[in-house]
Amino acid sequence: MGELDLSKKVADRYLKREVLGEGTYGVVYKAIDTETGQTVAIKKIRLGKQKEGVNFTALREIKLLKELKYSHIIELIDAFPHKGNLHLVFEFMETDLEAVIRDRNIFLSPGDIKSFLQMTLKGLAFCHKKWVLHRDMKPNNLLIGSNGQLKLADFGLARIFGSPDRRFTHQVFARWYRAPELLFGTKQYGSGVDVWAAACIFAELLLRRPFLQGSSDIDQLGKIFAALGTPSPSQWPDMVYLPDYVEYQYVPTPPLRSLFPIASDDALDLLSKMFTYDPKVRISAQQALEHRYFTSAPLPTDPDKLPRPAPKREPKASDFDSHEGPTVLSPPRKSRRVIPGRDGFEGNSLQRDKVDDNVGNSRQTAGDTAGKNDPAPMSLDFSVFGLKAPNRPTINSADRSHLKRKLDLDF
Ligand code: ADP
Repeated sequence: MGELDLSKKVADRYLKREVLGEGTYGVVYKAIDTETGQTVAIKKIRLGKQKEGVNFTALREIKLLKELKYSHIIELIDAFPHKGNLHLVFEFMETDLEAVIRDRNIFLSPGDIKSFLQMTLKGLAFCHKKWVLHRDMKPNNLLIGSNGQLKLADFGLARIFGSPDRRFTHQVFARWYRAPELLFGTKQYGSGVDVWAAACIFAELLLRRPFLQGSSDIDQLGKIFAALGTPSPSQWPDMVYLPDYVEYQYVPTPPLRSLFPIASDDALDLLSKMFTYDPKVRISAQQALEHRYFTSAPLPTDPDKLPRPAPKREPKASDFDSHEGPTVLSPPRKSRRVIPGRDGFEGNSLQRDKVDDNVGNSRQTAGDTAGKNDPAPMSLDFSVFGLKAPNRPTINSADRSHLKRKLDLDF
């Protein structure tokens, strides 16, 4: 069978239904797998706009994601190219955590919050153990199935397809979950970035609104320091050496209790450990799972007894309120331009974000650990597996047959 025929045959296996939404990388469709009768979600990734198309490394990384099977990770069932797009087939999920948090008709008990956080951390701990980072943790990437099981979605895609473009409103929201080391432009980061984001999600479950809603990267750091206190160099010695470090006005650390009046002592203790500034000292996902919060009463709610949300809608900027943070005092080495109206929700914020670009281009390094005793998980950099990335042919390049041959083998 010709390669194009094969690609068509795979594509024909899935019967497309309605559009589920437009995501960071393209449209997501609901579809039926005609071979199994299973409902699936197909993410169609536009390759036309990619400068270099999807290279071999990306395809191999996708293959690795296919092997990342766990009850709290969304399953990548299939991946195939079709008509210049890459199609990723995932198990279909009913809703997501953002819809749960946003639904005012839902009451979240302390046991419910514990259950959602536990499933999130289980998914993270599994992937970090396999040396994979998520890098785009946010409530709408935590999908929930009909049995209440929460699963991490979009694992590793930021790494494979480059950092999401900030053009879309939903990407602006992603800033709210970004760790301070990323906001200060670190090139070397570890699983701690996912733990920080999980802490923001934990806080959001407690507050029922996003915790730290910065309108720019500088404002995001300001919001973090206003809420959790400005870190001192002794608390986070590497901070002052980060590429985009700027000194912020000193704000003493307020008691977390003042921000989360209804949370238990155990919840606040875990939250403060997840919100540790120095990524080398920050608790790991596995250590967080072993925290007494998960074994003290009330126990985590059984997933099938968790509340279900009403049908979800797209978030609007007006849904959220913001609060002021401390101001930047002086840029010791390097100044960062803040253009009023450029970031956040004012204007159409079409600019790409600098920190995001840094993140997209950076590689995970083995030396950057999240928890002190953890092996350092790496993003899917194939040097780790001893594989050499070949030249970078693209799906759109003249060398289609070569690539197709490779795809036939891989998928
Ligand atoms: P984003 O890039 O903003 O994270 P996605 O590309 O993940 O968005 O998803 C776009 C839309 O498709 C969202 O409404 C999301 O809920 C939906 N979606 C994504 N994956 C699935 C899935 N596996 N099952 C059901 N809906 C999904």
